[in-house]
Amino acid sequence: MDVFSNQRRAKKISVVTGGAGFLGSHLSDRLLEAGHQVIAIDNLLTGNVRNIEHLFGNADFRFIEHDVTNFIYLPGEIDYVFHFASPASPIDYLEFPIPTLKVGALGTHNTLGLAKAKGATYLIASTSEVYGDPLIHPQKEDYWGNVNPIGPRGVYDEAKRFAEAMAMAYHRYHRLDTKIVRIFNTYGPRMRLEDGRVVPAFIGQALANEPLTVFGDGSQTRSFCYVSDLVEGILRLSTSDTHNPVNIGNPTEMSIREFGEAIIKKMKTSSKLEFKPLPIDDPRIRQPDISLARELLDWEPKVDFDTGISQTIDYFRAFIESGQ
Ligand code: NAD
Repeated sequence: MDVFSNQRRAKKISVVTGGAGFLGSHLSDRLLEAGHQVIAIDNLLTGNVRNIEHLFGNADFRFIEHDVTNFIYLPGEIDYVFHFASPASPIDYLEFPIPTLKVGALGTHNTLGLAKAKGATYLIASTSEVYGDPLIHPQKEDYWGNVNPIGPRGVYDEAKRFAEAMAMAYHRYHRLDTKIVRIFNTYGPRMRLEDGRVVPAFIGQALANEPLTVFGDGSQTRSFCYVSDLVEGILRLSTSDTHNPVNIGNPTEMSIREFGEAIIKKMKTSSKLEFKPLPIDDPRIRQPDISLARELLDWEPKVDFDTGISQTIDYFRAFIESGQ
């Protein structure tokens, strides 16, 4: 019995772990649009079925509630495995340090095993956090990073570094077709207001006319990529023939203070900036060098900050008004 009861298979079949999360749900939408059948797997640790409920009537979509740190059995053929399951925001991985290490290690092993059994292409969602608090700027893929393995954030950074090593080992030893995307800060609809990431945090505080919490003096920088741009880059990477990591992100860099001021202006709120101590090991600078993505994937971000942030603000406004 196959997950999809196709008599003759016309469509690609993709597995998306973390499919009920922010990025996994957008990736599932985009794969369906591209004509794939999608099996989303998620244990709902930090995700929510709300993100995929619009897909429940779609004959090409299945949702399986499962923890991918346990063995994954799926009948039938599979063309792509996208491993996106993992707590992703500092609040989440500090609350779930061991599940974060497990999903990066055991979850990656299990999903690689699935891809190997099916002869599928494998793509792992890695992160700019593999660069840690970087000593070079902007960050290029050949930079090895500056990570504190035993600091509180090490559970996430090292899990992803292990996951990359595991994917490369499967590629080199088992000849699996693996891809590694190093995702830089991405934002958009379906983020969680309370996940601690700066975009939802500031928008939520501005909507409530509360002070916007800036950690440190706000001079630390981030580069924000809109979710549709990221997903386009991931799709292109999945069909490319590159196996080394590729940065996907938006190189337009701004300080957290500038970002807070932009939100206040855009949302015409009476909120002010409020400064709090910087958390331990918070990276000071972050900007992707995307020359490789430009060269290999002919990809670069298209959505400007004003457009992306407006769509995100609309989403959070509607979300709060719906009282969910
Ligand atoms: P998210 O928390 O919204 O989504 C992660 C999903 O994984 C959730 O739905 C969660 O329930 C699920 N999950 C966690 N552990 C699981 C397990 N053991 N089994 C099954 N499902 C599990 O986070 P996101 O922002 O969508 O991040 C998705 C992926 O992208 C993560 O791997 C993250 O590390 C990576 N990433 C995201 C960003 C970003 O800016 N959003 C940046 C870099 C990397």
